[in-house]
Amino acid sequence: MMYDITIIGAGITGTLLAHELSKYHLNVLVLEKENDVAMGATGANSAMIHSGHDPKPGTLKCKYNLLGNRMYPDLCKELRVEYQPVGAFVVAVSEEELETLDKLIRQCDERNVPYEILDGETARKQEPHLSDEVLRALSLPTTGIVMPFEVAIAAMEEAMLNGVELRLGYEVKQIRKEADFIINDEIETKVLVNCAGVHCDDITDMLRESPYHVEARKGEYFVLDHLDGQFVSHVIYPVPSIKGKGVLAVPTTHGNVMLGPDSEVSVNVDDNSTTGAGLEYVRNEITKTVKDIPYHRMIHTFAGLRPHIDLNDFYIQEDDQIEGFIHIAGIESPGLTAAPAIAKDVTEQIILPKFHAERKENYERRKAFIDISKMPIEELNALIRKDPDFGRIICRCEKISKGQIKDVIHRRCGARTIKGVKRRCRPGMGRCQGGFCEPEVTAILAEELNLDIRDILLDKDGSEVVAAASKEEL
Ligand SMILES: Cc1cc2nc3c(=O)[nH]c(=O)nc-3n(C[C@H](O)[C@H](O)[C@H](O)COP(=O)(O)OP(=O)(O)OC[C@H]3O[C@@H](n4cnc5c(N)ncnc54)[C@H](O)[C@@H]3O)c2cc1C
Repeated sequence: MMYDITIIGAGITGTLLAHELSKYHLNVLVLEKENDVAMGATGANSAMIHSGHDPKPGTLKCKYNLLGNRMYPDLCKELRVEYQPVGAFVVAVSEEELETLDKLIRQCDERNVPYEILDGETARKQEPHLSDEVLRALSLPTTGIVMPFEVAIAAMEEAMLNGVELRLGYEVKQIRKEADFIINDEIETKVLVNCAGVHCDDITDMLRESPYHVEARKGEYFVLDHLDGQFVSHVIYPVPSIKGKGVLAVPTTHGNVMLGPDSEVSVNVDDNSTTGAGLEYVRNEITKTVKDIPYHRMIHTFAGLRPHIDLNDFYIQEDDQIEGFIHIAGIESPGLTAAPAIAKDVTEQIILPKFHAERKENYERRKAFIDISKMPIEELNALIRKDPDFGRIICRCEKISKGQIKDVIHRRCGARTIKGVKRRCRPGMGRCQGGFCEPEVTAILAEELNLDIRDILLDKDGSEVVAAASKEEL
């Protein structure tokens, strides 16, 4: 089958581009090497919709950060996922940092980014866990938070409801260009979009020598239990340095708090393991901005990999040698924020002029995942009467029912793995980290997908959790 457009990579850039393209009469395919969407940088980051106060003037990062920030509230409403405009404080703790804060204030003025300047005492009244050393805070009310994988999953689901095809577990290994592009000797496409994150240069090298080289910069985090959701209510940034935005305290849309990240070059671009040194760095740095951190409430650590390219900006353009080959590369921070604006521009400025496709008149909207914790009791009781599985609690920490798990499995872009279920409706996100519910989720996946329990994966290929029946030989 011939496709109009094939997108390589189902992170936030690939899924939002697919979503934007699904509004037009176009034949679109998304190829993703992992078992789910949002398994690269999109699955492990600070989850912030930056206000745009920080990127270097004149860069694509700056342009798309500002545009994307304005798009997120409506986008999340459309996709029926959570967006919380929590606001941020950038805090200065020395005379030198006050100068950097002044530079950020000038940038806010130039970019029309709303702000307020607070002295240390006023800031501490709003955020009691701010360090006593904080002299001044730049308050940025247009900073927001989302769950990035929720946005990507919802965008992909809605794109699929409107005709986009997704192939998971499909690794692009070879591409050649004849009249059209031919991928792995089997898929033909007129336009090819490279959204492969840390592998963008590998994809480009399949067609020509890549004009950029991608380096993975690892960022590591602690996650505190949501019982401590009140530990900070704004995002707390230090002033930025040459190493980036620095170590942050970030509330999440589910009421947890993340502390991190550091920034270290990873030799292996796929290695997202945490390290003692990285977490120690986070622990030391974070004390400059917040105090009394309840580490006894720490439930998880994780790391994400930033796709940094040597051109120090996003690289978004049609290839200068190969017509129809589009790069969306080097999408490191603020890539999550920028992604909706990138998707819109690439669609309208690069792709649509090639096809002159009409906009669809009947566009199908997705429904939000069922969340029994937000339902009035009468509505919940009615739901349980209709399907008793909504009254059967599987995850006791987060109070997730079997009915919710079945809902996320049977959607378009539905969950196929234990972590896929976790990313969509949270069993395993709580204090016990799946200790109690994981065997039940595994059994539900096997039952609903009609698979042998030994074939159910935790996450990536090779991550089976059941080796054999207890009395069976291995
Ligand atoms: C530590 C950290 C903190 C961050 N914090 C923020 C933040 O707070 N705010 C913000 O705006 N941005 C933030 N970012 C940046 C943001 O996360 C990224 O810019 C964004 O997620 C990049 O999305 P992507 O879709 O381009 O790449 P990815 O999400 O990495 O997706 C690329 C996809 O391509 C697939 N792929 C690769 N090769 C192949 C192949 N050969 N065949 C098929 N599929 C392939 C991969 O499996 C992957 O799923 C942060 C990033 C990190 C790492």
